[in-house]
Amino acid sequence: MQRVYFDNNATTPVLPEVFEAMRPYFGERFGNASSIHHHGQETRAAVERARESVAGLLGCRASEVVFTSGGTESDNLAMFGVVRPGDHVITSTVEHHAVLSAAKHLEEKGCEVTYVPVDGRGLVDPDDVKRALRSNTSLVTIMMANNETGVVQPVDDIGKVAAEADVHFHTDAVQAAGKIPIDVNQIGCDLLTISGHKLHAPQGVGALYVRKGTRLEPMLYGGRHERSRRAGTENVPGIVGLGKAAGLASTGFGRGDDQKMAAMRDRLERELLTIESTGVNGVAASSHPSEAWVGHPPRVPNTTNIYFEGIDGEALVIALDLKGLAVSTGAACSSGAIEPSHVLTAMGLRPDQARASIRFSLGKQNSAEDVGFALDLVPGTVAKLRELSPVYNKTAVNS
Ligand code: PLP
Repeated sequence: MQRVYFDNNATTPVLPEVFEAMRPYFGERFGNASSIHHHGQETRAAVERARESVAGLLGCRASEVVFTSGGTESDNLAMFGVVRPGDHVITSTVEHHAVLSAAKHLEEKGCEVTYVPVDGRGLVDPDDVKRALRSNTSLVTIMMANNETGVVQPVDDIGKVAAEADVHFHTDAVQAAGKIPIDVNQIGCDLLTISGHKLHAPQGVGALYVRKGTRLEPMLYGGRHERSRRAGTENVPGIVGLGKAAGLASTGFGRGDDQKMAAMRDRLERELLTIESTGVNGVAASSHPSEAWVGHPPRVPNTTNIYFEGIDGEALVIALDLKGLAVSTGAACSSGAIEPSHVLTAMGLRPDQARASIRFSLGKQNSAEDVGFALDLVPGTVAKLRELSPVYNKTAVNS
């Protein structure tokens, strides 16, 4: 049975080149990167090469890259690392739970958190961030790209607001890394999160960019790994994989891989929108709402989140999966939950509209044929489900 995977925002397959780069570090190159003998030096050199490569992707110094176990740890380290009891934090209503749950924990520990809203396109207004600032604000954390909609936030402007107020700025770039170019100096952030498994490196490895001079309290205590910012023997194969994937992503931008990806996504989106009573959740792929967007795509090039009126999203995911197409109703960790997506409801969708929305997210392994496969399946499957849906029939009769 042919299978097409369009759930790359949940996780991506490890690219063959990445796997090959990692392979020796599961075998003959097994040393502990802290050991001073040959075996240790070999793996230390590999870790430092990977650090250079990640720094190249982010536009920072290698010494500013801290390897972690993934996006969740990096988000938590950024937040718990700079926020002190009694501080005020600003975040948004559409963040990933790795940030939202950490923010809740800070609230339980006596911090105050402001959740700035988004508009109908899923965008944070930098002026809202400015208005939320207080004398005890120590951190602004706003994601670069949303995992459910792919919407890219005006992080450069938010970075300026934070810098003017002399407040730390962290951005969760897990869904941006490898998809759009990132330059930490242009964003003006002090902290930035990436995760290996969203850019074709393995699961269980990530990194946190920490601007030189940022005072970061570690979460883990132990050896002096990662310049005492993250204790624990390094996951050498994972780090090597992340370094390789970062290098491939950097080269890909030079080749225009992101534009090719956008062209495939745009075709998928355009044709799906010819199905009646559908709409895109998030900024339209072609719109540039303000001057601030010059040079920034409104959405990462691999993602489209589409609302199919009268459909139960979970039912559509299951029906498509039975035919070989893997898509998602939104964040993987909340799939199966009864609650509608907090991202889509924050954008103003009714719960039934949020539940009728599906995310299609492409990866480097996908081809134009895969888009064709999806386009052959989705319209008929939607029509079938709508035939069975009393809600859709009623809507059609009433409108
Ligand atoms: N932040 C965002 C925006 C994500 O999409 C994810 C994963 O879905 C995470 C953080 C968590 O990353 P990880 O799975 O590496 O812990």
